[in-house]
Amino acid sequence: MSPTIPANDLSRAIKKMRPQLDAAVARVLDRGYFILGPEVKAFEQAFAAYLGVNYLIGVGNGTDAIQIALMALGIGEGDEVICPALTAAPTALAIMAAGATPVFADIDAQTYTLDPRKLDACLSDSTRAILPVHLYGLPADIPAIQAFADQHDLVVIEDAAQGHGAMIGDQKVGSLTPIATFSFYPTKNLGALGDGGAVAVQEDGLAERVRQIHDLGQTGRYEHSVVGINSRLDEIQAAMLQVQLECLDAHNDARRERALWYDELLRSVPDLTLPVEPEDFHHIYHLYVVRHPHRDRLRAHLKQYGIGTDVHYPKPLQDQPVFADARVAEGGTPEADRAVQEIISLPMYPGLTQQEAETVASAIRSF
Ligand SMILES: *Cc1c(COP(=O)(O)O)cnc(C)c1O
Repeated sequence: MSPTIPANDLSRAIKKMRPQLDAAVARVLDRGYFILGPEVKAFEQAFAAYLGVNYLIGVGNGTDAIQIALMALGIGEGDEVICPALTAAPTALAIMAAGATPVFADIDAQTYTLDPRKLDACLSDSTRAILPVHLYGLPADIPAIQAFADQHDLVVIEDAAQGHGAMIGDQKVGSLTPIATFSFYPTKNLGALGDGGAVAVQEDGLAERVRQIHDLGQTGRYEHSVVGINSRLDEIQAAMLQVQLECLDAHNDARRERALWYDELLRSVPDLTLPVEPEDFHHIYHLYVVRHPHRDRLRAHLKQYGIGTDVHYPKPLQDQPVFADARVAEGGTPEADRAVQEIISLPMYPGLTQQEAETVASAIRSF
């Protein structure tokens, strides 16, 4: 039986946008132009303006976006890139796809994002970059990470796949570092209706390299001068994303409202730890993740009440077989190791009703 309150439900938001989405598809079909055309250009300009960056380049997905950013920076074979142990696997798969080695750093126990105080334990002579993740929609502590990077001559690349519209102060994530990456996987806060991604860049030389690499290394038509890949955002997805971008702030506000409902309903539940939002940090609640010492039993209990939940993510990445050869911070990642045993993602999406949030909360209270 599928849950009465699913962990996620895209159809609710899509239904509301249906007329605009239909019109956007029709516009592309009527034009008959499907790769690197006016829709991609229009979306790139609109999202660059939204973020406050100079350049945005649409690519095939968020994993490619990271690989392309690393390639454009000249990071590859023999280089190490530090990323958090608690993140989606593609963060580190993309580092390997670029030919470099991931080094897994520990997280902060309260925010779940990369702990700048733990970066020292990850350094080696081969370290070139730090790839922090705005996990669950909360910005990583970029100012502290950038300060560390400056001391050690490293570049910082934001993995903003979960951070569309998140901010530190009044600055959007994706604009905080020289280069940043986004995913438009359908479940992200800004989602396509298929795969999509982007690289945000401040400096024109670097933007030019990203443009060349994402389109077969072409420096001119049929001129292939650098090693590139084929990873392009297509016209239909770019048209879908223009519609979705119009709704992004309203959807993020709706998620924040639902987070407030949960905060109030769950505040006094014993043993339950709620998400935090540090001062000046603007959380966009891609996920609403709580923590409980008996996580698996709590999940089973909620399932009985027809409430869908998920775990993001069940293992620190170094415990995934594919990353057996990666390096781990000296002293390991004790906070990430503990978190993966206790975290649980509650239903969170703009269409979740107040009554549903109350049902989830009372089911948790009855545990
Ligand atoms: C979704 C995601 C990615 C990968 O994006 P795709 O578009 O699925 O390739 C990378 N990093 C993080 C943190 C993600 O959540």
